Amino acid sequence: MTEKFDAIVVGAGPSGNAAAYTMAKAGLKVLQIERGEYPGSKNVQGAILYADALEKIIPDFREDAPLERHIIEQRLWMLDDQSYMGTHYRSDKFNEERPNRYTIIRAQIDKWFSKKVKEAGALVICETTVTDLLKDAAGKVIGVRTDRENGDIFADVVVLCDGVNSLLAQRAGFRAELKPEHVALAVKEMHFLPRDVIDERFNVKGEEGVVIEIAGTVTSGMVGTAFIYTNGESLAVGIGCLVSDFKKTGETPYALLERFKNHPSIAPLLKGSEVKEYAAHLIPEGGYKAIPKVYGDGWMICGDAGQFVNALHREGSNMAMTTGRLAAETVMALKEAGKPMTDANLAAYRRSLEESFVIKDLKKYKDLPEFLHKNTQFFSDYPNLLSKAAETWFRVDGIDKKTKEGQMVRGFVKARGWRGLLGDAVKLARAWR
Ligand code: FAD
Repeated sequence: MTEKFDAIVVGAGPSGNAAAYTMAKAGLKVLQIERGEYPGSKNVQGAILYADALEKIIPDFREDAPLERHIIEQRLWMLDDQSYMGTHYRSDKFNEERPNRYTIIRAQIDKWFSKKVKEAGALVICETTVTDLLKDAAGKVIGVRTDRENGDIFADVVVLCDGVNSLLAQRAGFRAELKPEHVALAVKEMHFLPRDVIDERFNVKGEEGVVIEIAGTVTSGMVGTAFIYTNGESLAVGIGCLVSDFKKTGETPYALLERFKNHPSIAPLLKGSEVKEYAAHLIPEGGYKAIPKVYGDGWMICGDAGQFVNALHREGSNMAMTTGRLAAETVMALKEAGKPMTDANLAAYRRSLEESFVIKDLKKYKDLPEFLHKNTQFFSDYPNLLSKAAETWFRVDGIDKKTKEGQMVRGFVKARGWRGLLGDAVKLARAWR
């Protein structure tokens, strides 16, 4: 294939599909290359779809996208070994005409999105791996090399949407190797249950769904979280921790997941389910400080490849779609103005990222990854202390409430000391700003 494209998009995850769709829809000549057998075949997600990001690309996506349930209730749980304490927010306002969040099955939604990309006019080829970037004598990216025979293909710009590892960006020297403390390893299972059992267990009906985000001793003091999401006829159950912590502790993700599933507060939710799928995947969690330069002469980086994940809020796919769309819009504006895809011109992509929620949110939490890495008491001491305090408070045993208050405070002070407690509060507030 020797023809030249306006843009080549590598990868058919949310960032690649957003970029390819947006450019193809605007009439650009786009080639998208995916190594998987079909889009979605290699991808793993919880998965929550944030409607706003997709709506900005395909406004009427609700008409035919494969959606599982819309979320009406968010639970945040803190687990110690025997109990959980937490908050639930449930609102009938989320039963709106255009719901804000949905559970989805990634393989299905990627396939659907890819169909839209093709309908918009892009050429999509699967089962093809991009092995390298082609550069001219001045170092400008001018195309890609694939693992197909005569597999060099040329374009004005190459948009790298190849996911967390992005070996292409690494090989080309655009990005450093991932640091173990900047990436989490997550494992996930699909537990199948009849729809009416899920409805009853989670107190929902029809298309309503529930999200449970969980932290605490279940990650054995490692930085990480777990989740349970309700699909139509299955539950997505997963847990993930920083790779550096797995290395340090020798824990295995599988053992962690087993422990989580057998927790006395979790096991009843999964009882009787049939596990049909098991998957593992990396999540970039280095945050703002880990974002590499995301553009240069003839290239751009979107989604996980650029570390665009807000781990605290569990937002990744929306950042992937938004960065893909903004990269595409940058290319479209340059094409329209007849300008070349140079480093100086593509800098407009970074500027539009700065103006969007993507960089604003990641910047807000810029110190959080390092803070959590260095303060694992939030995943060990505090869940135990909070649970003990709650147990003391709620147990009616003839001890007066003032004495109980004293016991609760002494529990915290004994474990962390006054200075430790104050220091933790100040550090947490600073990281949160
Ligand atoms: P990917 O989805 O990883 O897509 C990259 C694509 O590129 C893949 O299809 C891959 O096959 C292809 N590719 C890679 N290299 C090449 C190559 N050399 N040549 C050709 N093709 C290539 N986000 C949320 O918003 N909500 C959630 O609930 C959520 N839950 C998650 C739960 C888990 C367990 C995990 C692991 C992630 C979760 N995320 C969630 C994050 C979200 O999945 C990612 O942020 C998102 O998938 C990133 O999209 P992407 O397009 O950048 O990369």
